[in-house]
Amino acid sequence: MVAATTRSVPEECIRLEDKEAGLDGFIVIHSTARGPAAGGCRFWSYDTPEAAMVDAMRLAEGMSYKNASAELPLGGGKAVLRRPAGEFDRRRLFEAFGRAVARLDGRYVTAEDVGTGLEDMENIAHATRHVAGRTARPGFAGGDPSPWTALGVFEAMKAAAAIRFGGSLAGARVAVQGVGNVGGRLARLLADEGARLVLADIDTQRAQALASELGAEVASIADIAGVTADVFAPCALGGALDEAVLGVLKAALVCGAANNQLATPEIAEVLRARDILYAPDYVVNAGGIINVAAEYLGESEADVRGRVVAIGPRTAGILEMARAEGLTSAFVADREAEAKMRPLCVA
Ligand code: NAD
Repeated sequence: MVAATTRSVPEECIRLEDKEAGLDGFIVIHSTARGPAAGGCRFWSYDTPEAAMVDAMRLAEGMSYKNASAELPLGGGKAVLRRPAGEFDRRRLFEAFGRAVARLDGRYVTAEDVGTGLEDMENIAHATRHVAGRTARPGFAGGDPSPWTALGVFEAMKAAAAIRFGGSLAGARVAVQGVGNVGGRLARLLADEGARLVLADIDTQRAQALASELGAEVASIADIAGVTADVFAPCALGGALDEAVLGVLKAALVCGAANNQLATPEIAEVLRARDILYAPDYVVNAGGIINVAAEYLGESEADVRGRVVAIGPRTAGILEMARAEGLTSAFVADREAEAKMRPLCVA
């Protein structure tokens, strides 16, 4: 089952169990080739420990690709904790998790993910320093990663538009699916650039309010993927690109923040065959992890900006290579990331 969902075997899989604290889950260290395995802590309901482990392995592998692609001095890892069914003491649970992270002595660095937040990171920090996503300190990187993720997607979209349309995003029609923390900020950046926007969100009030502010149109969540647009930006949930969406998609470029946009790996080939340029998700949405990593590494905001802006040319390079070699951009992104999954040489 695990072999079917991941491409490679992780370095280490650590079972976490502390019944009194309600801790039940896994830390998976996929790769430490580039540095400490970094990746967030997911806190979610899983029916079985096996289901949590499979998810942790898949997500840890994904972090190795994302971190290597972003050229961070980090490997890939992930923690997945099963949310207790009944009442539980959240502080105690995350302190126990912090002790488990501490025992790994820096081989794994944790941060926020689905189901965890700032307060959990502060509780983890009672037990270990190998945690990021904490309160930002003046002069240092840290805090909310969403603006950086949005900036990275924006830079990637500008670079991809230059390749696909031979011009800028000014006047281009962009359909944004999901205007939450990242999608909302992306929409603002696009509006400033002169793009014409169509917005959709399950939270229709949120979409309406932003549309009024930016002079954008609103579409229903059922229609957004199929509206007439140059660019489709999935910024909601994973699996945004499936057979049904491809049946209605009119955009010639897909570039958005959502993780795991391809519902199945085969979708990448369908997009290529239809000459729809796909900017690989983990390449373009790395701004958040870049900011989290900078906090852990003690870097400045200027370092973060430099790395995030580099997402533009990196995306362009992958798209150009894919086109020249007749391959999918997803394949080329993976190939390039795998080539970087090796120890860094320090001069
Ligand atoms: P968010 O929860 O703030 O925003 C998501 C928005 O999508 C919400 O407004 C929600 O109402 C809306 N939504 C949900 N289902 C929808 C649907 N079917 N159609 C239209 N809208 C829908 O989340 P976010 O932090 O903005 O993240 C967005 C995506 O980007 C996620 O897939 C996330 O994993 C990914 N991502 C986020 C970051 C980050 O820094 N926040 C980093 C990397 C990747």
